[in-house]
Amino acid sequence: MSRFWSNTVRSLTPYVPGEQPKLDNLVKLNTNENPYGPSLRVIEAIRAATGDGLRLYPDPNADRLKAAIADNFGIAPQQVFVGNGSDEVLALTFLALLKHDKPILFPDITYSFYPVYCALFDIDYSTVALNDAFEIEVADYRQSNGGIIFPNPNAPTGCLLGLDAIERLLKNHPDSVVVVDEAYIDFGGPYEKIGAIPLIAKYPNLLVVQTLSKSRALAGLRVGFATGHAGLIEALERVKNSFNSYPLDRLAQAGAIAAFEDRDYFEKTRAAVITSRETMVSGLHGLGFEVLPSGANFIFARHPQHDAAALAARLRERSIIVRHFKLPRIEQFLRITVGTDAQCEVLVGVLREIAAG
Ligand code: PMP
Repeated sequence: MSRFWSNTVRSLTPYVPGEQPKLDNLVKLNTNENPYGPSLRVIEAIRAATGDGLRLYPDPNADRLKAAIADNFGIAPQQVFVGNGSDEVLALTFLALLKHDKPILFPDITYSFYPVYCALFDIDYSTVALNDAFEIEVADYRQSNGGIIFPNPNAPTGCLLGLDAIERLLKNHPDSVVVVDEAYIDFGGPYEKIGAIPLIAKYPNLLVVQTLSKSRALAGLRVGFATGHAGLIEALERVKNSFNSYPLDRLAQAGAIAAFEDRDYFEKTRAAVITSRETMVSGLHGLGFEVLPSGANFIFARHPQHDAAALAARLRERSIIVRHFKLPRIEQFLRITVGTDAQCEVLVGVLREIAAG
């Protein structure tokens, strides 16, 4: 603490470094990383981009990457914005599109960074409680607002909101920007059935944010993107360019393009994660856990007899790390990332031992 700190800085809590411990041999199931590495084509592309090329600035428009993303979703490159991880894309979204004279709305129980961005950028917000099943209830978003944001699937609950409900929300709030944060959407089912990007053609107020950190296993490369009407994208570009006109470094641009090119690897690994999730859920059900329906690469579970904080601590003693949030309504839950089948087996085995004794 220093006397030079503003009230905003005083109010901020730094990211818990404990979630990224510098230890080997952990079963790391706490930050929703993909247990499978990225495609080998990504590694090759990054290798090819090193060397003399690093002397040169990267493409300030990330044209090839935007074209690859646009191609993947059947949209125009002008409808794509890219940034350093979706956290940066979200931060710029708050600044460029969600700062108005009315409070923005997001669910009570959601991604913990939303209130942080509100504090940083001096944006008012109101929260809307999840329903009894821990789902987003679109009908409860009644208030006139400066914008709406939610993850789909929601985090940390993992619950997926249907496209029909998202369309109802867009229709009910035509004057608000509605941001759907699809960090985990690829684990929820076929994108054609659940993804919101196809709706951007119909709703100029819709922004859909995605990341390459989860289903494309590139959390270390820091690549995220947003898609929406060209007018929304231009607002993001203006704000971004005022900070740093290079959206992504050379290696990130090269790797991300390759990640979109290797469609087979993407399909294979996301299917593997979904299958492991189902195995993990049945293992946990067998131990008496209640598990919320998950469309993500993590599950949210509680045990009627065991305290969640104590369980997390016992798991940590055994080198397994999961996430526990000390927050009202969810403090009896654990959020557990879906690892490889072997990791999930270790987790269920250790939980069985803990429960037995
Ligand atoms: N949105 C949600 C809902 C998340 O859980 C995360 C990951 N913590 C992010 C965005 C940010 O991911 P990244 O910055 O790695 O793209």
